[in-house]
Amino acid sequence: MTADRYAVLGNPVAHSRSPAIHAAFARQTGEAIDYGRILCPLDGFEATVRDFATAGGRGCNVTLPFKFEALRLAAQCSERARLAGAANTLRFDAGGWLADNTDGVGLVRDIEHNAGVPLAGRRVLVVGAGGAGAGVLGPLLAARPAELVVANRSADKALTLVARHAAWAQAHTVRLSAAGLDVPGTGFDVLVNASASSLQGQASPVGADVLAPGALAVDLMYGAAAEPFLAWAHAAGASARDGLGMLVEQAAESFFIWRGVRPHTAPVLQALRASLAAAA
Ligand code: NDP
Repeated sequence: MTADRYAVLGNPVAHSRSPAIHAAFARQTGEAIDYGRILCPLDGFEATVRDFATAGGRGCNVTLPFKFEALRLAAQCSERARLAGAANTLRFDAGGWLADNTDGVGLVRDIEHNAGVPLAGRRVLVVGAGGAGAGVLGPLLAARPAELVVANRSADKALTLVARHAAWAQAHTVRLSAAGLDVPGTGFDVLVNASASSLQGQASPVGADVLAPGALAVDLMYGAAAEPFLAWAHAAGASARDGLGMLVEQAAESFFIWRGVRPHTAPVLQALRASLAAAA
């Protein structure tokens, strides 16, 4: 049987763990897929993705900096991709491409299923209003926390993001508001660091008083760059998680969109964590 072709497209893309994750899903489920990585020229995303589809590709993941452009190329998109303004998954349907964004649902699954923390009724603080913050907000709201605050270094970007999600928040009965980093509020049950602070070697972009006793603190970053945040959260008495679980869960959702089969994520996450630890 010929394998169906998929790939992750980005620039840079060499670091991507997606090929290893999807290969593991394929082995586990018996789905015949061949998943590669394609480096796109910065001004050549559209041409590269169209060439891949013409050559028989069935779909792709899209990473930085092309997630916004990917959404514009699709004939139809999911509500969560529309709210995010960006897509990380394309399916090359014959009648027109479908765009989706699986980052947010990946984060919610990691928090609720892997960490065992239900979001309904909780107070949630999301720090960061860039691409990652925009990608996770819709699914976080759909999990119906009592309150969600988006805090960002440039408060105006948080306000814009909150305005775009106002109707969605209302539909899910969530109190949604924006803040600057100096006054994000205190005593949140869940902190999501969707800012690039860890990439810059900073432990946390906010003070420890944002954490309620026994809070969960999640950094979307993983590997060595996430370690200062994880240490900060532990020192503050919180449970801490890096972004590896979200990475595997968002991949599983893409796999489901393409293949209609939902892989088991726990063994894949465990193997990925072990291989990262061995390489450190
Ligand atoms: P963007 O460049 O789009 O946005 C960066 C955000 O971080 C902005 O809100 C910016 O604020 C803020 N920021 C930057 N530096 C600091 C700082 N020192 N202190 C506080 N805030 C800061 O990046 P992305 O949103 O795409 O990515 C953010 C993080 O999420 C990255 O670490 C990325 O690796 C991770 N990520 C992880 C994923 C996963 O699957 N685990 C998926 C996607 C992203 P301002 O607006 O003021 O500039």
